[in-house]
Amino acid sequence: MSQSITQALLINHWISGTIVETGSGRTGPVWNPATGQQIAEVNFATVEDVDLAVAAAKAAYPGWRATPLSRRSEILFKLRNLIETNRERLVEIISTENGKTIADARGEVARGLENIEFACGIPALLKGGYSEQVSTGVDVYQLRQPLGVVVGITPFNFPAMVPMWMFANAIACGNTFVLKPSEKVPSASLLLAELARQAGLPAGVFNVVQGDKVAVDCLLAHPDVRAVSFVGSTPIAKVIYETATRNGKRVQALGGAKNHMLVLPDADVDAAADAAVSAAYGAAGQRCMAISVIVAVGSVADPLVDAIRQRIAKIKVGPGLDKRSEMGPLITRQQRDRVASFLESATAEGATLAVDGRKNAATPGDGFFLGASLVDNVTPGTRCYDEEIFGPVLSIVRTQAYADALAIINDNPYGNGTAIFTQNGGAARQFQFDVEVGMVGINVPIPVPVSYYSFGGWKSSLFGDLHMYGPEGVQFYTRSKVVTSRWPDPGTSKVDLGFPQVR
Ligand code: NAD
Repeated sequence: MSQSITQALLINHWISGTIVETGSGRTGPVWNPATGQQIAEVNFATVEDVDLAVAAAKAAYPGWRATPLSRRSEILFKLRNLIETNRERLVEIISTENGKTIADARGEVARGLENIEFACGIPALLKGGYSEQVSTGVDVYQLRQPLGVVVGITPFNFPAMVPMWMFANAIACGNTFVLKPSEKVPSASLLLAELARQAGLPAGVFNVVQGDKVAVDCLLAHPDVRAVSFVGSTPIAKVIYETATRNGKRVQALGGAKNHMLVLPDADVDAAADAAVSAAYGAAGQRCMAISVIVAVGSVADPLVDAIRQRIAKIKVGPGLDKRSEMGPLITRQQRDRVASFLESATAEGATLAVDGRKNAATPGDGFFLGASLVDNVTPGTRCYDEEIFGPVLSIVRTQAYADALAIINDNPYGNGTAIFTQNGGAARQFQFDVEVGMVGINVPIPVPVSYYSFGGWKSSLFGDLHMYGPEGVQFYTRSKVVTSRWPDPGTSKVDLGFPQVR
């Protein structure tokens, strides 16, 4: 991979196996959140650029679709190995543009790679069903075939993993792919595209268009696009779902979250505090599976708040690329200021600021840092509870009984992830039965499913039917065809105008 791809001052598109520079004149800034400095400009695609990318994907589709499964699998194996070989390069790009720590970026790449490993098994995953002798001399079988050109639109918080959630299965199934990454973190996708080329992926199978709403709107309306996968905030997910389905496309649009961790009085307080701090403040709270609310039942609240406060004091906030840092900056200055504003409004709305991150942030230079905050006595109906904050702010809601805690979680409009901390297996099982959330952890705070299950929330955290990656990903990127077949013995052939029935 040449240095120019990710260190260019102007970051471009990847179309038909190569970097494509176009001159829309519209660009956006790319920041290093740890320094607060602008490090590049990213080119924003025009309608013509998007047309070019979709045309490249469309042209590549017949050849890719006809490529044997074992050959597709071989390319994915090579891509997997190339990503592993280039892991530290990718990690550095992610950390520089997103701000997350090296350890966190390594975790992101590892969880993304899982999806490529899953997709390497595509020959087994695409096996259909076969019923012999459904009628005399008649067999029926089901095939799964690709859709054509499919699109991925991804958020800033996982610049490599979320694209891998999508394109690994999409291309393994025989589709060709156009990715529109977040304009805040445009470079990781270009490295992935270059590695895919090195792995032997034919030109046009994987394309990247950089840009904003103009590019997205064009993709959603494009007659040659068959399906759209989206991950991002709920308001945009809803618009994407409504627009793309109106245009006849298959859509899965994953939205935002407000993930609750229910802590029962019998929970181990130290273990629950360790889990809460890791899940609330990792990636500075910018994970869709971050814990943002603890619902503490009964007597556990006081010792838990104390234990979390003690742990927050030890978190090392600093630049992601500094190996000593445990928590990096937020993605932009505006987002840092927006998150800080919740600390202002929370106290005005009656909550207690147990730890104020505006005071405890080590803020080297002009980076977009904010320390970890803990807000106690938060109640539903306040801004701090109702909105997705997407920063290092953990709220504590106090309740007296399991039923009250469950009602709070089930009444929340989001339903991405949740967790229960308890030593009582029966209580955990009841929670798993009762809770209206798509991904549940039992003494596990960030229950992101492994790649051979599928990822997706409920309610306002997902618009569409199928979850992302894993078996549902394969289902999303294929359509089924059922063949009824008969190879008659000419000697038994006759005219029969009756409706076909089993004989
Ligand atoms: P975002 O919704 O602002 O942007 C996501 C993508 O949509 C980007 O590529 C962006 O360029 C594009 N976009 C933004 N505004 C648009 C518009 N008006 N029209 C068309 N396209 C538009 O999200 P973000 O800030 O990049 O990411 C953070 C959000 O993503 C959080 O809400 C987080 O919870 C969510 N998220 C969800 C999951 C999940 O799996 N459910 C995973 C990661 C992030």
